[in-house]
Amino acid sequence: MSCWIDTHCHLDAAEFEADRDGVRAAARAAGVAHLVVPAVERANWSQVMALAHRHGDSYALGIHPLYTPRAREQDIAALREMLKERRDDPHLVAVGEIGLDFFVPGLDAGRQAWFYEQQIRLAREFDLPVILHVRKSSDHLLKTLRALKVKGGIAHAFNGSVQQAQAFIALGFRLGFGGAVTYDRALRLRELAASLPLQALVMETDAPDIPPHWLYTTAEQRAQGRLQGRNSPGELPRIAQAIADLRGMDAAQLAAATSDNARQALRGLPAWASIG
Ligand SMILES: [Zn+2]
Repeated sequence: MSCWIDTHCHLDAAEFEADRDGVRAAARAAGVAHLVVPAVERANWSQVMALAHRHGDSYALGIHPLYTPRAREQDIAALREMLKERRDDPHLVAVGEIGLDFFVPGLDAGRQAWFYEQQIRLAREFDLPVILHVRKSSDHLLKTLRALKVKGGIAHAFNGSVQQAQAFIALGFRLGFGGAVTYDRALRLRELAASLPLQALVMETDAPDIPPHWLYTTAEQRAQGRLQGRNSPGELPRIAQAIADLRGMDAAQLAAATSDNARQALRGLPAWASIG
């Protein structure tokens, strides 16, 4: 069985409250050996750290752009203290999830940019890679990264153009692909997943979000009372198989290559995955 790394899984989310350890165990049984759990705000840092330690997984610390309305400026100083305190923790692999979201309406762009830039500066100070949230914001994110170089990292749930993909790759980033590629209509994204250099790809679920097509329910189905399917890290092998099929390659080969890529993108992921 292939051995996968889910480089982006919000295992701390409320959706997993009732069965979190079971979800983690099921993912492991399906071949997902390692998860990276990114933080979204100061209030969830302690849970993210505890979860990663409990399951032998990894975590990132940061403030997500969608949480900037309720974040406070002093949370940046708190993040700096926490990164200092956890400096030697092998489970801490990046600053994240940070970035810019120009898709969700009603967010203050200037405020988002301030938190993003402050966290880029912390990643530089602590010599850590970053996990980026990119939604309609590639060019803005890239502009800051060109001015304030970081160690690279992952542009998660990437869904931009080939040119934007190449720009992230040139700055040392890998691109995270997940459930969105399983939709036949996602033509541009599927083309990217099929054609980008293998060294640029890492796998992710973004669970409980971005359900693959087999978990998706339409607005009509939801109106009839069917719940939106919850994505989980155990879906990763099936999602990755869709990517392997698009690339005309073996799933085992994709698993080995993307696990290596994840280890190069983040700090200190364990080296076991090639054994699988
Ligand atoms: Zn996320």
